[in-house]
Amino acid sequence: MGLLSRRSLLAAGAAAGSVAATQGASAQGGGVFGNPDRPAEGRINTTPDAFSDPGPKNPGLTSQFPSFQDPPATDVAGMDLFWASFNNAHKRVQSGGWAREVTQADFAVSNAVSGVNMRLSTGGVRELHWHQQAEWAVMVDGQCRISVLDVEGRPAVRDLKQGDLWYFPPGLPHALQDLGPSGAEFVLVFDNGRASEFNTLLLTEWMAHTPPEVLAENFDLPVDAFKNIPIDDLWIYQGPPPMALADAQAAVRTPLGEPDVEYTFSMIDMKPSKITKGGEVKIIDSRNFPVSTNIAAALVTVKPGGMRELHWHPNADEWQYYITGQARMTVFNTGPKAQTADFCPGDVGVVKKSFGHYIQNTGTTDLVFMEIFKDRQYQEVSLSQWMAGTPPDLVASHLNMDPKLLAKFRTPRVVVPS
Ligand code: MN
Ligand code: MN
Repeated sequence: MGLLSRRSLLAAGAAAGSVAATQGASAQGGGVFGNPDRPAEGRINTTPDAFSDPGPKNPGLTSQFPSFQDPPATDVAGMDLFWASFNNAHKRVQSGGWAREVTQADFAVSNAVSGVNMRLSTGGVRELHWHQQAEWAVMVDGQCRISVLDVEGRPAVRDLKQGDLWYFPPGLPHALQDLGPSGAEFVLVFDNGRASEFNTLLLTEWMAHTPPEVLAENFDLPVDAFKNIPIDDLWIYQGPPPMALADAQAAVRTPLGEPDVEYTFSMIDMKPSKITKGGEVKIIDSRNFPVSTNIAAALVTVKPGGMRELHWHPNADEWQYYITGQARMTVFNTGPKAQTADFCPGDVGVVKKSFGHYIQNTGTTDLVFMEIFKDRQYQEVSLSQWMAGTPPDLVASHLNMDPKLLAKFRTPRVVVPS
């Protein structure tokens, strides 16, 4: 077997996690194409006996993580865990809906943002509240109404559908209300990894913890007017059917008018920012959604067999929310370290600022996920664009490649076909 074909076999074996016929061939040395580590890691570099795993296990759980069970030979272990999920997050369930969250308390690497997955029942309400963090959100099911007040005292009421976004700057008071006919579900991102959905400033709690005579004086009403206010918080509750949008907007109208920024954005109606054979990307940040000054987002669709190309983000950590399909991501850091993980719908990933990564669609349907950054702008550096933008003699001498092949690097890409 010639060197080239053996190298190809090793690369193919490593990619498929195959023990293959080469098993043991490089067990001593490593250090070949597709299998570079010294000491060598990965199944291809060991024996079936050493690879075996006879101890206690939960097959339902382990089968969800093929890349943790059997990492590619190009992986080098030792990276902070960058996988988390809403699927195994505890739900707080009340009449009117539920919420679960992934915060830095459970997911150490995620210090920039935290995430919340919330559902409101038909007519469910998330009570009037505010918090120190900015709140970005994407609707994943149903229809929802938002009510918000800006710092000039100007109210806005808007109705949203699946795929729409909202953004509330820190401290602006707001409420969420399902519009029916079958409930609303969304994912919230707070611009602080420690922020929790269960730790927000609630209207009912402040009212209950203010002396009645102070309430009376503040609102210029008799004390008696407040005798039935709730003593406990509502947080999420089953509300009345919502008013018609026009009636709700008319009821809050003031001479001050409406806020001069829009707090909502229709992502579904937006044209893709980039389209390739392998998929498309929509980028939503303060350039097209001006109020979103501290969260930038991208909605990525990767077709079966496609891949989100090798790249990194120079300005911020990436927080990912997987919506449909199956994915495998490898993250690269100094060390060298490289670690591969698998993602399903409802899972969350984090890639630290400037760490290299790529994401493969490992399923048979479209892979759709969101990339979230705590920054005013989406930014990325593409490995292939960098190679195309570097003098070819320099690239060729680094990679020991035929300079004629480097022209391939010049193809513009974000999501690449297989
Ligand atoms: Mn909120
Ligand atoms: Mn990325």
